[in-house]
Amino acid sequence: MRLVLLGPPGAGKGTLAALLKESLKLVHISTGDMLREEMKKETPIGQEAKKFIEKGELVPDEFVIKLIEKKLTGGKRVEHGYMLDGFPRTRKQAEDLDRILGEIRQPLDYALYMESTLPVIIQRLGGRRVCENCGALYHIRNKPPKKDKICDLCGGELYQRADDNEVTIRTRMDVYLKSTRLVIDYYQAQGKLKKLDGDKDSEEVQAVLMQIFHEDRKLNKH
Ligand code: AMP
Repeated sequence: MRLVLLGPPGAGKGTLAALLKESLKLVHISTGDMLREEMKKETPIGQEAKKFIEKGELVPDEFVIKLIEKKLTGGKRVEHGYMLDGFPRTRKQAEDLDRILGEIRQPLDYALYMESTLPVIIQRLGGRRVCENCGALYHIRNKPPKKDKICDLCGGELYQRADDNEVTIRTRMDVYLKSTRLVIDYYQAQGKLKKLDGDKDSEEVQAVLMQIFHEDRKLNKH
């Protein structure tokens, strides 16, 4: 199964992705994670991307498309089921993704749209903590680690993303409303969009999704 996860930052895409990784063994491909990795390694893409990410703006299409194309068609490509998280974010990215997947004859199955509201998003992202080692997600109130600032899964240190502050969150939300809305319309027109309630608990969202997959008989087609 090939999925795209859409929705504003903090709508629960990452948490849903972690559940689907476990239950359906789908590979989680996040352009945000890939860009942060490039920043950490101080590659030319990373250095360029940093300027945009810190302000909460979108990194230019050509950089992210290049990263995704390599991931989906390069030597170490992901062959089976995957979910794209945080990509596409513009109509150009959505069109290029269709082109790339068309060339390798692997069309998308669904675009899952997690809807959420600004107060919920600010509350979620403001308290979000991420493991620097394995990427596991925590929340200081809703899902605190057992030991302060330490990942339960791997013992890595937890950190707060520099762009998870209220000013940058508001910019990211504005950016999302302007560009990503067009991506939602794009998949709606293709009949691939499924809307999910991102304000609900992620286990509940997953249950709704499994129902949809079963009804469409998608689960035996990985
Ligand atoms: P995320 O981890 O998905 O919230 O992404 C963090 C930041 O990375 C975003 O605010 C953007 O600056 C950048 N980014 C991630 N994915 C994309 C994309 N598909 N297009 C442009 N910028 C992106």
